[in-house]
Amino acid sequence: MSRFVARLLVVVSKQATVRGSISQRRTPAIIRPSIRALSTSHGLQSLTRYDETTDWQKKLTPEQYVVTRERGTELPFSGIYLNHYEVGMYHCVCCDAPLFSSEAKYDSGTGWPAFKEAHGTWEQDESHTSIIRRPDNSLGSAGTEVLCKNCDSHLGHVFDDGPEPTGQRFCINSVALKFKPRRNKESENPEKN
Ligand SMILES: [Zn+2]
Repeated sequence: MSRFVARLLVVVSKQATVRGSISQRRTPAIIRPSIRALSTSHGLQSLTRYDETTDWQKKLTPEQYVVTRERGTELPFSGIYLNHYEVGMYHCVCCDAPLFSSEAKYDSGTGWPAFKEAHGTWEQDESHTSIIRRPDNSLGSAGTEVLCKNCDSHLGHVFDDGPEPTGQRFCINSVALKFKPRRNKESENPEKN
């Protein structure tokens, strides 16, 4: 049942995302060919690094589980990080890997947190980031899923209609993220988790 709901959520939100792309962006992701075919093979090798026996249903809330482990999507304009602009790092809610810096965050207007690039991106090289890309043709149109390289958590999708200079729009579920504010280097009190 939950899997069925997750699929439904994906369909609804994917359509919303595509509509958002067409109406608000000059070029839909589908038409513009990807000129940033990044090194996914490197990342794919590390998919099994995280313990596959982890009981994600115990570790996560039901909402986190559906989005990250069953490829669901939170409803647009519902996520806690949509209008969140504190300085810091967005980590994987499942394994704590650092995924996106607040410096790369921007308002895409589509209803989900958006980032211009993944943390660790060097020019167009994503081999040192904590994300991987995977083709997603589940809905009959070409798309690119974004996953955590460390634990295979579904994070969202990436499109080619982002702002310059990267041209990338990482459309990420708030539920898949855990924000940690940047610590003051002179602070004597380490951040509490
Ligand atoms: Zn992860």
